[in-house]
Formats: sequence, structure tokens, C-alpha cells
Amino acid sequence: MSLEIEKLRLEGVADERPLVIAGPCSAESEEQVMATAKQLSANGIKIFRAGIWKPRTKPGGFEGHGELALPWMQRVKKELGMLTSTEVATPKHVEASLNAGIDILWVGARTTANPFAVQELADSLKGVDIPVLVKNPVNPDIELWIGALLRLNGAGVKRIGAIHRGFSSIDQKLYRNAPMWHIPIELHRRYPALPIVCDPSHISGRRDLIAPLCQQAMDLGFEGLIVESHCNPDEAWSDASQQVMPQVLDFILDRLTIRNNQELTESLESLRKQIDTMDEQLLNLLTKRMRISREIAQYKKVHDMAVVQNNRYSEILDTRAVQGSLCGMAPEFIKKVFEAVHEESVRQQIETINK
Ligand code: PEP
Ligand code: MN
Repeated sequence: MSLEIEKLRLEGVADERPLVIAGPCSAESEEQVMATAKQLSANGIKIFRAGIWKPRTKPGGFEGHGELALPWMQRVKKELGMLTSTEVATPKHVEASLNAGIDILWVGARTTANPFAVQELADSLKGVDIPVLVKNPVNPDIELWIGALLRLNGAGVKRIGAIHRGFSSIDQKLYRNAPMWHIPIELHRRYPALPIVCDPSHISGRRDLIAPLCQQAMDLGFEGLIVESHCNPDEAWSDASQQVMPQVLDFILDRLTIRNNQELTESLESLRKQIDTMDEQLLNLLTKRMRISREIAQYKKVHDMAVVQNNRYSEILDTRAVQGSLCGMAPEFIKKVFEAVHEESVRQQIETINK
């Protein structure tokens, strides 16, 4: 299905990459909002973000000040001339944000995953011309992501964009949310006119990974970046470990290399990025395989079985070698790979059994 996409047309924001949105995870107090916005604005940031309604995974966390915080956003707009943006999850949020003159809305990852909620949002935006950015759903489902964009677009929202914030997974990993770059790349392939903004803060969950992720997003041809920035990150009420001070963000942005005219599907660079993505997928799969293997170790422990079952091992090597050669790879190579995988798997099982 097609999307009718118009340019975002953000007043006072130059039409060049990267489009940068920055600000704290949550609006905590008037002082925190103003101090952060002033520093960002002094560094040339034109679009301010702050969460006013915060979707917390569990009750008890800071859920945002709600409407009470809207006047603080109005001050940012009036006194600093910045555009303001926030997350909306219900028609009430939309109404309050529109009344307060918020310039850009975004739909959070948990909301995108729920078509009922997205439809309600879309209905509440009928006849309203405001840019709306849609975060990917928490689960790696490109159709659900596109579905949300289609619902909004169907309600007449034409200034739309996407935010890539990574996908949650149960396995141990480097990132808070696995980037799975192939998903936004596929989104770009299907809708080349749709601006895609990368959110390195929610992907990484860690300050030290923001800079390399920003560069990677630019190398992949993303349109912009949405980065969590706080005047005092260590004391932040939400997502403290992933927020950077405004001057750190400035340092990161200053050092970005922006190459233009990248075409994701054609250049050598892009093919290399695809290899990086494949390797990331391989690592994710291996991580999952090891986890299952450790679960097997628990079973063996309970049932007093030996770690290595020889017939099972030979069966794995033989079947994989045959499958691999059917896919055009040398059986010896496949055997080597699975011997190495098995060796690590046995090591982890022994470790689990002896715990
Ligand atoms: C946020 O932007 O602070 C947020 C809650 O993000 P996400 O919806 O990506 O989890
Ligand atoms: Mn956050």
C-alpha cells in the first residue's frame, strides 16, 4: 500500500542532513527543561524533545508530569524559538499537545505495537496538519510499523516520518534494543520518500555508544537523529544511563562525517553495511543458540545425563554439512563452523552444570 508523503516542512530548520531533535527523556521540572533547552539552543539545536507522558514498562517509575509540563514546552518555544516535540499515546494527549502548540508529535514504540491505539490517535488527528513521527514497534515487525504509518496517513497526516529505536529481545546483548538495521533499510527501500530518523539513545541504552551509532545512521543514509540530552544526565528521572549533556551532543555532532548521495542499495559502502547487519544477525542467532544450549544443560543436570551425547553430535555435523553443500558451501567449511559452535556450546553447558 502506498503512503502519500509530504516534506516535514519544519519552520526555521534547514533542509539538510542530519535533522536533529534533542532533549531529555522526560520533562522533569521547569528548571531542568529550560536549562537543557537553553544549552541545546546555544549549540544550534532547533528541535527540542521531552517526554510529558511516559510509558513505563512497570508501574512505579516516573510517568511524566502530564499537562502540567506543557507550559514549560511553551516557554522553550517562546523564549528560545525552538520547535517542540513530545510523545502522544492517546487522543487526550493529542488534544492537550495541540492546544499547547507542540510542533511535532511522535508515537512511542509501545503504542505503535497496538493498532487500536494507533487508530484512535489517527482519528484524533483527522484534519490536523502537524508532522508526526512513528517509532518502530518494540517487536521487529516491519508490517506493524508500516501499518501505523498507513493509519495516520489514512487520516490525512501527510507530514510523516519514522523513528528507528531498535527492537527488544530477551538475549544478552550489547544494545538495549537490537538495531536490526535491515528493518529500517527495508522500510527505506519500500518508501524512499519517508524520512527516517535514528534514535541512538534507545537503541544503545548507553552513553558511550551514542557517537558510533550516530555515525552509522548517517553512513546508512538516515535523514536525522533524535538524541536524549539532559543538563544533568546522572540525575535523570528516566533513562539516565543513555542521556548525554548538551555539550557532549555538540561534540558528537561536530565530529560526524556526512556523506551525501548515498544510495543504500548500490555502493560498496552499503554492501559492507549489509555484511555488518548479517554478522549482527549471525551473532544474535548464536547468542540464542547458546541460551537454548544452557537450558539443555539444566535438563541434563536434573536428569543426570552426560554433557556430550556422541550420536547427537555426529548427527548435527552430518546434517549441517549436507544442508550447507546444498547451499553452495564446502562441506568441510560447514563442518568446521559447527565443530566450533559445538565446542563453545559444550563449554557453556559444563559451566552451567557446575554452577
Ligand atoms: C522515549 O523516547 O523516551 C521513549 C519512551 O521511547 P520509546 O517509545 O522508543 O521506548
Ligand atoms: Mn527515554
